[in-house]
Amino acid sequence: MPSPSADCVFCDIVAGRNPHEIIYEDAEFLGFLDRYPLNPGHTQFIPKQHVRWVWDMEKQEIGFLFMKVQRVVKALQKVFNTEWVIADTGGIGVAHAHVHLVPRFEDDGHGELPDPKILREIPENEMEDIARRIRAEIERTPV
Ligand SMILES: [Zn+2]
Repeated sequence: MPSPSADCVFCDIVAGRNPHEIIYEDAEFLGFLDRYPLNPGHTQFIPKQHVRWVWDMEKQEIGFLFMKVQRVVKALQKVFNTEWVIADTGGIGVAHAHVHLVPRFEDDGHGELPDPKILREIPENEMEDIARRIRAEIERTPV
């Protein structure tokens, strides 16, 4: 796999050079709150290793990625009291494999897919509180 990319925002976050609200971390994966959320709790879940697309990952690693994603999604479902959480693999906005996890609500103004023009302004202290609640719920969720 390619080594960390010097000009990659997500590699900077992995390296701790670009502080974000981290909601999940292990040796291979990182989950953090998106600073421009489509809805409260909008999470980016990424492999720490720099690859462009999720589809570039080794088959087994993709399996692990989505096992961890499920754990995060179950926490998001509880924290935001919704079963509807969408997952969207990305690599355009930032050229580092990522899965957007967005809690959804019937009245959230998005269509079936989120409207990228609808972004929520969430104060920093509220982002911290959201991250704390998600982390606590992940801790409570069996692996
Ligand atoms: Zn990267």
